[in-house]
Amino acid sequence: MAETLTVDITRLFGSNVFNQKLMKERLPKETYKALLRTIEQGTGLEPEVANVVANAMKDWAVEKGATHYTHWFQPLTGKTAEKHDAFISPTSDGSVIMEFSGKQLIQGEPDASSFPSGGLRSTFEARGYTAWDCTSPAFLKEDAAGNVTLCIPTAFCSYTGEALDKKTPVLRSMEAVSKQAIRVLRVLGNKTSKRVTSTVGPEQEYFLIDKKYYEKRPDLIMSGRTLFGAPAPKGQELEDQYFGALKDRISAFMKDLDTELWKMGVQSKTKHNEVAPAQYEMAPIFSTTNIAADHNQLVMETMQKVALRHDLVCLLHEKPFAGVNGSGKHNNWSLATDDGINLLEPGKTPHDNEQFLIVLSAVLIAVDRHADKLRASAANPGNDLRLGANEAPPAIISIFMGDELADILSNLGKGKKASSKGQHFLHIGVDSLPPLPKDNTDRNRTSPFAFTGNKFEFRMVPSSASISGPNVVLNTIVAEALDEIAARLEKSKKNIDAECAAIVREAVQKHGRVIFNGNGYSAEWIKEAKKRGIPNISSTVEALGYMANASAVKLFEKYKVLSGQELHSRYEIYLENYIKHSNIEALCAVYMAKRLFIPTVITYTERLAETIGKLKAVGATVSVQKDVLTKVSSHLEAASEKLVTLEAALKKAQSLSESLAKAEAYRDKVLPAMNDMRSDIDALEATLPSDVWPVPTYAEMLFNL
Ligand code: ADP
Ligand code: MG
Repeated sequence: MAETLTVDITRLFGSNVFNQKLMKERLPKETYKALLRTIEQGTGLEPEVANVVANAMKDWAVEKGATHYTHWFQPLTGKTAEKHDAFISPTSDGSVIMEFSGKQLIQGEPDASSFPSGGLRSTFEARGYTAWDCTSPAFLKEDAAGNVTLCIPTAFCSYTGEALDKKTPVLRSMEAVSKQAIRVLRVLGNKTSKRVTSTVGPEQEYFLIDKKYYEKRPDLIMSGRTLFGAPAPKGQELEDQYFGALKDRISAFMKDLDTELWKMGVQSKTKHNEVAPAQYEMAPIFSTTNIAADHNQLVMETMQKVALRHDLVCLLHEKPFAGVNGSGKHNNWSLATDDGINLLEPGKTPHDNEQFLIVLSAVLIAVDRHADKLRASAANPGNDLRLGANEAPPAIISIFMGDELADILSNLGKGKKASSKGQHFLHIGVDSLPPLPKDNTDRNRTSPFAFTGNKFEFRMVPSSASISGPNVVLNTIVAEALDEIAARLEKSKKNIDAECAAIVREAVQKHGRVIFNGNGYSAEWIKEAKKRGIPNISSTVEALGYMANASAVKLFEKYKVLSGQELHSRYEIYLENYIKHSNIEALCAVYMAKRLFIPTVITYTERLAETIGKLKAVGATVSVQKDVLTKVSSHLEAASEKLVTLEAALKKAQSLSESLAKAEAYRDKVLPAMNDMRSDIDALEATLPSDVWPVPTYAEMLFNL
């Protein structure tokens, strides 16, 4: 499927997308206008219009080789789902025609009973509904066998209208933040912008390993990460991987990946080696949040598919290998108006600066007030192994503003005229803000939430997860802060500039504690954060407790993003997911210990004992052999004792019925027991000859590409 180098990327790009250009070409003028109104203003789509659009879409798809269509959606598994229907429709003479109606485009009714609903969908009502999200363009997916499928991005909800997916709350949160941001802009004198959208550019980290190794590791196959493995002699200490020259095999993979993504309209822009050996990153150009979320799902899926074509396996797990960096997703986020103003861009005029500082204050208020919810949105079992574990980012939410901006804010908080480097002066609404340095080198890599010039970068997001949850939280908490600011400004009897100054001052005074520009990895920060009263939520089980508590229900209900019921169902699903994940890992660890490692070691000790016997018979010295045998036997004994402990802990956890207690049992008893057993198995791996060890080693997997 790889294209040759001569391919014209501008023609290739979006060739599998039913984009606005195609719509304009293929739709009657009136239909096109009506559809555009729906896309841009969210007005309902008339059935006749839908019929015409569906037909044009089908004609285009069929010309491109499509035989089927699917309503593509994102259930709460965090993956995507699709059920393919052929376009065929029978005629009276027994033949078929290719047909696709407006109704089929707009709405689907998949059986929802096998998707997690967290109690929202009663079993007697198995129907779920998918509804076209026409703001995310339809596209064609091709597979290696040549199948082409028309994919319609859809939201997925229950019969009674509750969200059963990741997309619905994203769309609702985009509405919420747009509404409040527009109110603020209006008071600040903006009369032209109609909508504000949250924009997102998610950088995706991943590992690649040779398929032949993957196939021999039940832990990678079953749980996505290595549950055992002695460290390789070399790790990432030479810092020779980050931005290193791409090897041919990797480069070939990335080229195919780009080609496939470009065809589907994903603006894949940046690719490079990441910090850990065998780790890489891909970043697209940012887009509106719902499209970014759709595209990120396509990115993850395509990475895995394309890797296999190169006899590679793409690992999206947050911590596939102990002891080397894990993977995350840097969620770059901002707000932009429909007429192209980035609300987090420090401006050149006093007015623009006022707007910037107000929006910045909204983010400051939001992140400090709802740090627990943001943290919860980035929680998953894989991230528990990454966050705070001596690597990026810590489990404590803080904001990096950069020294200059932090200085300015601190002065504004004291009601002083802000000065910067003694040259520029700022009095909100009167003077201009000094140009802020946008130099990338000035960035603080240890901050979980960093201002990077004209956007915020939320770095806690797990590599394997959908970016929807974190952005739903971001949009909603900022919507709330903007709502309060708008209310103050609208009511203000003072002049607007003075009120703006007061808003920024109070935001800094009340919420400035969340700003931290220092080293987020240091032990001092953990102490300091505690002193400041900033939460340090170290595990998924704990974090999930904040996603549906009273404060969360109040917030998300107020902005009509998620109802209490929807939040509780999500909480149940994510907790269950944690339990299931942990259970699979534990079962897999038991399986590997019993069926791979212990038998291998037993066979080896038998051989060694035989050797010792034979050597003794001829009067040779056996001290080395005996030492090895003693060492190996003692680890073997320890490992098998720890296996018993693990199995007992597992049995106990499995027997619990209450979800929270059960999840805690996995976290506090089962996972530590697994790690405990691992230490002996890893010691055995480091002692036994490499040719007898039953699974590929870290050194093989990480350095043989
Ligand atoms: P770095 O790795 O240095 O953080 P990258 O260039 O890899 O930088 O990624 C930056 C990401 O931020 C890109 O996806 C980019 O499109 C995105 N981005 C830039 N401006 C905005 C914005 N206004 N809103 C959201 N994302 C943005
Ligand atoms: Mg980044």
